[in-house]
Amino acid sequence: MDIQAIRREFPILAREMNGHALAYLDSAATTQKPRAVIAALSRYYEESNANIHRGVYRLSEEATRAYEDARGKVASFLGAPSPSAVVFVRNATEGVNLVAHGWGDRNVRAGDQILVTRMEHHANLVPWHLLARRTGAVIREIPITDDGRLDLAAFEALLSPRVKLVAVTHVSNVLGTINPVARIVASARAVGAAVLIDGAQAAPHLPIDLAVLDPDFYVVSAHKMLGPTGMGALVVRTSRYDEMDPFLGGGEMIRDVELDASTYADPPARYEAGTPDIGGAVAFGAAIDWLAALGMANVAERDRAVGTYAHARLSRLAGLRILGPGPGPDWAGSLVSFTLDAAHPHDIAQELDARGIAVRAGHHCCQPLMKRFGLAATTRASFSVHTTEAEIDRLVDALEGVVRKYAPRVGAGVGAGVGTGTGTGTGTGTGTGSGTGAGTGLGEDLGDDGLMREVVMDHYLHPAGREPVDGAQVEWSGKNPLCGDEVTLRLRLEGERIAGIQVLGHGCSISVASGSMLAVRLKGRTLPEARALLAGTKAMLRGEPLPAGLDLGDVEVLQGVRDLPVRVKCALLPWTTLEESLAHGETQGGHP
Ligand code: PMP
Repeated sequence: MDIQAIRREFPILAREMNGHALAYLDSAATTQKPRAVIAALSRYYEESNANIHRGVYRLSEEATRAYEDARGKVASFLGAPSPSAVVFVRNATEGVNLVAHGWGDRNVRAGDQILVTRMEHHANLVPWHLLARRTGAVIREIPITDDGRLDLAAFEALLSPRVKLVAVTHVSNVLGTINPVARIVASARAVGAAVLIDGAQAAPHLPIDLAVLDPDFYVVSAHKMLGPTGMGALVVRTSRYDEMDPFLGGGEMIRDVELDASTYADPPARYEAGTPDIGGAVAFGAAIDWLAALGMANVAERDRAVGTYAHARLSRLAGLRILGPGPGPDWAGSLVSFTLDAAHPHDIAQELDARGIAVRAGHHCCQPLMKRFGLAATTRASFSVHTTEAEIDRLVDALEGVVRKYAPRVGAGVGAGVGTGTGTGTGTGTGTGSGTGAGTGLGEDLGDDGLMREVVMDHYLHPAGREPVDGAQVEWSGKNPLCGDEVTLRLRLEGERIAGIQVLGHGCSISVASGSMLAVRLKGRTLPEARALLAGTKAMLRGEPLPAGLDLGDVEVLQGVRDLPVRVKCALLPWTTLEESLAHGETQGGHP
C-alpha cells in the first residue's frame, strides 16, 4: 500500500494542530474520511436527493436505487447472506438496542441468562442491562485473562440451555484482542443460544465473512469504517427475523395501517421506521468501495505492521505498560492502550495535543474492563490506513517529553488507579507526599498556554491542603467516573468559618491543582464566602463573567481549560465535591 498516496486522499490530514502537523491517532473513536466518501455525500445531495421508496418519479427512484445499492455493498463487504439481511441503523449502538428490543423482548424471559464479556463496550452492555430489567433475565460474565483474552474454558462452562444470548465483541476497542467468534458461535448454538457480535472495531480492520462466522446478529458503525456518522448496519441471520418484532413504528416499516392496528413490511424495511439517512447510506457505500479497493487483507496486514511497530517502540519506554495480548494472531494491531507511571491519561492526551497528536484518554466506554485491571483510565493510540511509522515516532518522542515533565510526581500517587467508592467517610488518601519539583522540565515547549501550565504544575507538584486536619466535622468524597479522579475534602468548621481544610485524593494535574487552589482559597473563609467562590469558579468555567469584586486567586488560571469540556470536569471535581458536602451538611443540619 502506498501510504503517502492514501494520505493525500484524506483532506483533514493537511491540517495543523497547535502549530504541528496533525497526527490523528484516534481512529478507533471515529475515522477520518477520504475524499471519495465526502464527494459521494455531497454528490448525493447535489444530484440525487429525494425521499425513497414512495416517490413515483425518476429522482426518487434514483435515490431509492442509491440507498438499496449501498445495502448491497454492505452485504457483500461483510459476507451477509443477502442484502435483505442488512438493516440500516444509526450506529452499532442502535443495532444492539434494536436486537435487545426487537428480539430480546420477545424471546428472553425471567431467569434466562445473557452472557457478556468483561471487555465489552458499554454499547454492548447497557442494552442488555435494560433488557434484563424489563424481563428479569440475568447477566453473566465471561471473564478475561490477565493478558486480555477471553477465558474460553470459563465461557464453555457457563453455557447451558438457560443461556438465551451471548453478546461479544469481535475486536476489543481497548485491548485490540480478536476474539474467536466462530468458535463462540458454534458453542453457543449447541445450547440453542443466539449470538450478537459487536463488529464496530473489527469491520474497519479485518476481512469479515459472515457466511463463515454465521452469527445471529452482527453490528457495525459506518463512521469507524471511513464512512459518515449517523449510519451503521445490523446484519441479521435471516431465520431470526421470524422471531423478531418491530423496534420503532412509523412510516416505511408498515404494510397496512388502520386507525387502531397495523401490519408490517417485510424485513429489512420492517426495522427501518421513518425516513432513513439516505445520504449517509450512499456515503457508507462509498467508504466500503474504498476499503474494498484497498483490499481488507492488505488493510489488516498494514494495521498489524503499524501496530507491531507502535507496540515495540512504546514498550521500550520506562514506566509504560500496554494492555492486551500484543502482537500475535489474535491481536488486530489497530490500537495500543497504555498507562504511564509518570502521568495521568488526561494529562498525557493534553500534552500530546499540544504537539498536534490526537489520542484518546479515559475509560473508553469500557468501565468493567478498566476495573478488571484496577484502572480508571488509559491512553489509547489507534490507527487507520493513513497512519505512518513517523507518526508513531512523534508519539514516542512526545511521551518521552511527558515523562521528563511529570516524572517528579512518580511515587506520589498520581496514577489513574481506582480508589474506594464515593460517599462520606471513605478517606481515599493517596499521595500525601509531594514531589521534589527538581528538574521538572517546565521550560519545555509543550504548549503555549504557559502561565496556566506553570501555575497548574506548581500546584500539582506541591499541592496545598494535604496536611491532616484534626477534628474535621465534614468529610466528603467526589469522583469523576470519566477518568477515576477522586477527591476527599475534610473541613473543620469553627462556627461559620473554615478553620481547617484537607484535600486528599488522586488524579490528573488539573484536578489535583484545582483541589490545591481550593484549599488555599478556602482556608479561613466563612461558608458564605466559600459559596461565593464556588459560584464564581463554576461561572468562570462555564465561560461566564466573574461576579464583580470576587478574587479567585490562582483559580483564575483554570479558565485556560474552558474550551475543553473533559478538562472542565477535572477542574470542577474539587468544587462540586465542596458543593455536595455543603448541600449534604445543610440537609443533615450538621452545618449551615
Ligand atoms: N462497540 C465498540 C467495540 C466500539 O468501539 C464502539 C465505539 N467506540 C461502539 C461499540 C459504539 O459505536 P457507536 O458509538 O458508533 O454506536
